[in-house]
Amino acid sequence: MNKNKKKKVIIIGAGFGGCIAAKKLANAGFDVTIFDKRNHHIFQPLLYQVATAMLSPAQIAYPIRSMFKNYKNVRVILANITEIDKEKKTVKPKRSNQQFSYDYLIVASGARHSYFGHPEWEKYAWGLKTTRDALKIRERMLYSFEKAERTRFEDKQARFSTFVIVGAGPTGVEMAGAIAELTRKTLRNDFSNFDPKSARIILVEGSGRVLNRYHEPMSEQAKKDLEAMGVEVMLNAMVSNITKEGVTIGDTLIESENIIWAAGNTASPLIKLTTSEVNRMGQAIVSPDFSIKEDDSIFCVGDCAYLEDSNGTLVPAVAQGAIQAGSFVADQLIRENKNLDRQKFAYKNKGSMATIGKSRAVAQVGKFQFSGFFAWLLWSIVHVMFLVDFRNRLLVFFDWFASYFTHMRAVRLINTYRERD
Ligand SMILES: Cc1cc2nc3c(=O)[nH]c(=O)nc-3n(C[C@H](O)[C@H](O)[C@H](O)COP(=O)(O)OP(=O)(O)OC[C@H]3O[C@@H](n4cnc5c(N)ncnc54)[C@H](O)[C@@H]3O)c2cc1C
Repeated sequence: MNKNKKKKVIIIGAGFGGCIAAKKLANAGFDVTIFDKRNHHIFQPLLYQVATAMLSPAQIAYPIRSMFKNYKNVRVILANITEIDKEKKTVKPKRSNQQFSYDYLIVASGARHSYFGHPEWEKYAWGLKTTRDALKIRERMLYSFEKAERTRFEDKQARFSTFVIVGAGPTGVEMAGAIAELTRKTLRNDFSNFDPKSARIILVEGSGRVLNRYHEPMSEQAKKDLEAMGVEVMLNAMVSNITKEGVTIGDTLIESENIIWAAGNTASPLIKLTTSEVNRMGQAIVSPDFSIKEDDSIFCVGDCAYLEDSNGTLVPAVAQGAIQAGSFVADQLIRENKNLDRQKFAYKNKGSMATIGKSRAVAQVGKFQFSGFFAWLLWSIVHVMFLVDFRNRLLVFFDWFASYFTHMRAVRLINTYRERD
């Protein structure tokens, strides 16, 4: 590419979709600026292990600046982008008058939790999207065990040690399994007045199956595994209210102060500023090349975009969906720069996996479905391999290896969370 004609690409969000696009475009000679409101990229699939004291945040996060230190034509800026001017082709960070101009804009700003029209539930039912969310959940959980140990009242002890996870998709299933292991194995001899094995772990699901996007035998297996680990699985159970006291299902109140929300997502609020074509989850309804309907120099990729691909497959809101979309959009800009037409995206399903606990997982890869130890081993290998940075891979592998034999979860720190009970 002629240096004087370098096209300027702005990417908002250094998640899976944004990072791959930035790397490909930088390698092709584009002038790339990547914005993120955090200074680190997060490997979200392992957040639940931070929330359940297996891993520390630094093991699954990596400085964005370091990711691009060898890319001379990538500028990394820590800023929360809150304005997009499509006429002037500029973006603006929050509380700033600085404007950044682009030839192409890629919005890869991900998603947040959605509470089905009940934003007031968020105060008690915490979701898991960032390392901060994971640390809050971890500290509340560990602090609850301390309160269960201290109290003289059985009803309070029961409340402190009841965990309700709303939503039995992969995150809910993984959280429930990990809390079961924590209470049944790791903590079993740590308290004198309270038996962690008596903790109730309740997984609430509105549909008739756990992991309802998986094939039925895999869902059945996951449910059996969870129950064998001591998790109570409530299917076809609709949450009607969530308050300080706990979760109400129908007319029944389950008293708990440990409620985890894994039930719904909504696209990042930036999408509403990017396009008026949004679905009910707030995702941009994009064209087959991921550009928005009003402007083909603006693209939305990853969790914030909605596309049925050229084969009629819905591009899923998972890491592969974001990686393939980010990579595809970069390819289209490279093609366009060579005066070639844009193509239509087709998603390649590389399979899905969810882990339930030690040696327990389910996997669907191509025509194959399997569960148990080999699914768990495959899950572990894939997740270690996808971590950014060799050091993180090594540290995570070491912690998992040690925990496999000892059930140890080393990161049981309460640093900041305090609550009057
Ligand atoms: C707990 C959990 C477990 C998961 N497990 C799996 C799994 O096992 N397998 C799997 O395939 N997928 C899993 N996923 C889904 C997967 O992580 C997402 O699909 C993927 O991260 C989406 O990538 P993305 O690039 O669209 O967005 P993200 O990775 O969410 O990145 C978005 C980035 O945009 C930044 N951003 C947002 N708004 C702004 C703004 N206004 N200005 C600047 N920056 C902004 C954010 O800080 C963030 O860094 C999981 C997700 C979660 C939350």
